[in-house]
Amino acid sequence: MKAPRRISIFGSTGSVGQSTVDVIRHANRSEARFELVALAAGRNASALAMQALELRPEVAVIADEAQLPELRARLAGSGIAAAAGESAMLEAAARPCDRFLAAIVGAAGLKSTMAAVEAGNHLALANKESLVCAGSILLDAADRAGITVMPVDSEHSAIFQCLGDGRSLEKLTLTASGGPFRLASLEEMARATPAQAAAHPKWSMGLKISIDSATLMNKALELIEAAILFRVSAERIDVLVHPQSIVHGMAHFTDGSVMAQLGAPDMRTPISLALGWPDRVDTLVERLDLAQIGQLDFAPVDASRFKSIELARRACSMGPAGPVVLNSANESAVSAFVAEDCGFLDIAWAVEAALDRFSSSEFASTKCTTLEEVAFLDQLGRRFAGDALNKAPSRAGGMPAWKD
Ligand code: NDP
Repeated sequence: MKAPRRISIFGSTGSVGQSTVDVIRHANRSEARFELVALAAGRNASALAMQALELRPEVAVIADEAQLPELRARLAGSGIAAAAGESAMLEAAARPCDRFLAAIVGAAGLKSTMAAVEAGNHLALANKESLVCAGSILLDAADRAGITVMPVDSEHSAIFQCLGDGRSLEKLTLTASGGPFRLASLEEMARATPAQAAAHPKWSMGLKISIDSATLMNKALELIEAAILFRVSAERIDVLVHPQSIVHGMAHFTDGSVMAQLGAPDMRTPISLALGWPDRVDTLVERLDLAQIGQLDFAPVDASRFKSIELARRACSMGPAGPVVLNSANESAVSAFVAEDCGFLDIAWAVEAALDRFSSSEFASTKCTTLEEVAFLDQLGRRFAGDALNKAPSRAGGMPAWKD
C-alpha cells in the first residue's frame, strides 16, 4: 500500500473546497489515500472547524483575524493548531505537502498559491484568477521549484487529458454551458437580478464564478488560463457553447483528429484527477449514460450578447498586464452587481471601459514581471471599473449599457 498523499486545501469551505473534502472522504473509506496538512478559509470559522475536526489537518487557518477566537474555541482540545491572518496563511501554504489545492476565489488567492509554489508544493489549481493575473510569474516559479501545476477547472483538466505530448496540436476548444441567459434577449439580460444570474443551469458553484458564467467572463478567464497553462496563443483557442456540459474540452491535431474528454458536470472528477494524478481516484460521480442523454448540441458564442470572449482576446493582445486589468475590473463590477449597484450588462461594459482607459494610460506598457506590479495593476483595474460604473447607462435608468 502506498503512503497517503498529503494535501492542503485553501478555500476549503467554498464550492470546490467542499467537493474536494467529499472526494477525500470517499477515497479514504477503503484505505487512507489522503491525509491533511492544512485547511484554510476566509471568514467561515464554524464550517472550517467542522471540516478540521473531521479531516484532522495539522493546522486550520482563517484569513479574517476577527474569526480566530471562534476557530480556537471550536478546535479547543482537538490537537489541531488554529491560526489567522495573512502571515499565518502564507506559513500554512508553505508547509510541505504532495498537492496544494488552490481554491480561494479571486485574486485574493494569489499570495498563498505563490507561497505554496515557492515551497515546492505541487499545485492543483482551481483559482484561475492567479494564473490570469500572474501566469508567467507563477509558471516560472513552478519551473524553478520543479513542481507540476495540475488544472482543476474541468475544461483544462479535459485538455490536459487530451493533449498527449502536445505535438502537432492545431488548436484547443473550451466548451461553455452558455449559463442561465443562453437564450435570453438583451432586454431580459439588462433587467437580470443577481439571483437570476447566479442560478446556473448545470453546475453548482460559488457566487462569483456563477455570475462569471452568466456573463461568459468565466469562459473568458478560462481562455486566458488555457493560453498561459498550455502555452497556446489566444487565437488558437475556440469557445463553443454546449448546453449539456458533457464534453468539457477538446484538442485538435494537424491530421484532422480531435480528442475530447467527456463526463458528468461534476467538479469531483477533475478534482480527483488533480489530487491523484497519475493515478485515478474512485468517486461517486454519476456515470455517463450517452444513450439516455441522446443528443449533444454545440453552437458558437453569440458575441452580440456576450462580449467577454472578445474582451479576453483583446486583453491578451495587450501583454500580461491586460488580463490583470480585465480580471480586477471584472471582480469589481461583479461585486457592484451583487450589491445591486449596477445592472448585469454593466459588468462587461465596465470591463471594456477599464481596458479602454488602461490601453491609453501611461501604465499600458507595464511589464508585469513582479507581484508588486500585479498588485498595482489589480488596483488600477478596480479603480477604472469603479469610475466607469459611476457613469453606467443603467444608472440613468436606461437600456442595455452596450449593444454591439
Ligand atoms: P466559493 O466562493 O464557493 O469559495 C471561495 C473560498 O475562498 C471559500 O472557502 C472562502 O472562505 C475562501 N475565501 C474567500 N476570500 C478569501 C480570502 N480573502 N482569503 C482566504 N480565503 C478566502 O468559490 P468556488 O469554490 O466556486 O471557486 C473557487 C475558485 O475555483 C475560483 O477561482 C473559481 O474560479 C474556481 N473554480 C470553481 C469552480 C466551481 O465549480 N465552483 C470550477 C472551476 C474553477 P469562506 O467560506 O470562509 O468565505
